[in-house]
Amino acid sequence: MSDFTMLRERMIDRQIAARGLDDPKLLAAFRSVPREEFISRDYAGYAYEDSPLPIESGQTISQPYIVALTIDAAEIGPGDKVLEVGAGSGYAAAVIGQIADQVIAIERHAELVRLAHDRMRRLGYANVRIVEGDGTLGWPEEAPYDVIVAAASGSHVPKSWLAQLKPGGRIVVPLGDPGSAQTLVKVTKREDGTLVQENLGGVRFVPLIGKEGFRDSGSAAQ
Ligand code: SAM
Repeated sequence: MSDFTMLRERMIDRQIAARGLDDPKLLAAFRSVPREEFISRDYAGYAYEDSPLPIESGQTISQPYIVALTIDAAEIGPGDKVLEVGAGSGYAAAVIGQIADQVIAIERHAELVRLAHDRMRRLGYANVRIVEGDGTLGWPEEAPYDVIVAAASGSHVPKSWLAQLKPGGRIVVPLGDPGSAQTLVKVTKREDGTLVQENLGGVRFVPLIGKEGFRDSGSAAQ
């Protein structure tokens, strides 16, 4: 077993399963994605730390546990079409792609889009498509989605996401101002179109920047 394989197994046991997320398909998904391939060589030695890490364009790769919590809360399963807003390195999208049928991951920084796209090709994640754009507007051309998850914190759930979600679909998004307390929120669209919101606890994310999110300065865009 290589050092990274050992560290990955330990990360799954101690950071994910030990915290109560023990669905075998979730753990298998983390087992098959090499997090060290999604960060620069300088940070590879920290790939399985219990924390976010810096990536290009001044952004971060999410903490593995938060990725697991989001996947679990969104009840991502086989056959699902998932939109991830905030593709960053592409790590979460790759993990989601091990469970879901199809993943569209949108990112606003062109540099990150290029790097994540190259990784998907190199590592063979053919069911993950990385696209560039303002994810607060969703990605209408592939809608509707079973699940929309966000890796950046908004002020509210964008209207476009509600419109692009299938009946029975789930949105998991952190809500709250940058630098202040944020809550991970799950919104379920019932078959009759009514929305149910649940609060899943405190989190800390970078801001969701865009037309239906925050301005670059961190103030509310609308
Ligand atoms: N899921 C990522 C990963 O596994 O590496 C981590 C993403 S990082 C915590 C959040 C990302 O959201 C950043 O890369 C940021 O540029 C992106 N972001 C923020 N607002 C966005 C928007 N409106 N549309 C697309 N991406 C956005």
